[in-house]
Amino acid sequence: MGIIVAIDGPAGSGKSSTAKEVARRLGFTYVDTGAMYRTVTLEALRRKVDVKNEDQVAQIAQEIIIGFKWIEDVHHTFLNDEDVSDKIRSTVVADMVSPVSAIPGVREVLAERQRQIATVDNIVMEGRDIGTNVFPDADYKFYMDADIRVRARRRIKDYQNIGQDLSIDEIVLELQKRDKIDSSRSHSPLKKAKDAIIIDTTDLTFEEQVNKIVTIIQY
Ligand code: C5P
Repeated sequence: MGIIVAIDGPAGSGKSSTAKEVARRLGFTYVDTGAMYRTVTLEALRRKVDVKNEDQVAQIAQEIIIGFKWIEDVHHTFLNDEDVSDKIRSTVVADMVSPVSAIPGVREVLAERQRQIATVDNIVMEGRDIGTNVFPDADYKFYMDADIRVRARRRIKDYQNIGQDLSIDEIVLELQKRDKIDSSRSHSPLKKAKDAIIIDTTDLTFEEQVNKIVTIIQY
């Protein structure tokens, strides 16, 4: 088992961009667990499987191969052999991902894969339950958070990049809805691990966020 850096927190807290840069600076492998839940959701939507049908959705999580690859400094996500990086960021997927992620069978399959990845490399893994459930003994745990409107503003650009124009208010609603489901589900809900270091990114620059984490990690 290598060194494990767990970064949890709600959407738009700055986790993804920070975790990627921290991994790059340390030479660790970056793992985006949200992308894994999004990929299962995309496949469930394509197969028109109802989320109430928990066994079938969990079966999809078992069946598909989720892969990651850096291509010219951009992190890509694959569903079997297909590059789904943009498709998993659409509002259709965002609307369904929290109900899919609340299914215990889906969480068990994906958490097991996440633990497997950590057997070969030093990793920076970001998500909602990494420090609490996937790696309760992680070497370093961080919990990133920020004011909801700041989080929504950060997301506007992400949506514009894939050709979706949403208002701040629409994004605030989406984030609130997801946060509520993510933090109230019974299986491994979003919450700060007791021993996680809190980083409130509301007034921090990207560089400050990255430095806060990198300076703590020693190896
Ligand atoms: O991080 P991102 O916003 O891409 O995550 C999408 C969704 O995936 C979250 O809203 C949550 O429902 C789910 N998720 C999760 N556990 C994780 C990572 C993401 O339930 N470890």
